[in-house]
Amino acid sequence: MSAFSFIACLLNQHAPVRRDVTWNGRAYIGHCRHCGAAIKRSARRSWRKRKNLSGEQYDIPTPS
Ligand SMILES: [Zn+2]
Repeated sequence: MSAFSFIACLLNQHAPVRRDVTWNGRAYIGHCRHCGAAIKRSARRSWRKRKNLSGEQYDIPTPS
């Protein structure tokens, strides 16, 4: 984890773990490679933290 990446995460600009990315029927979802947050793709190269997890069917636990 670099300092730059950590700052990006604080700004809600995350980067997915590519092998963890799945399609849930509505959006690409995954986990941030830097902070481990549950995220979804809001636009190309734009990943935001998932706020509502109740409708997500592929919420894979993040390895610690
Ligand atoms: Zn992050």
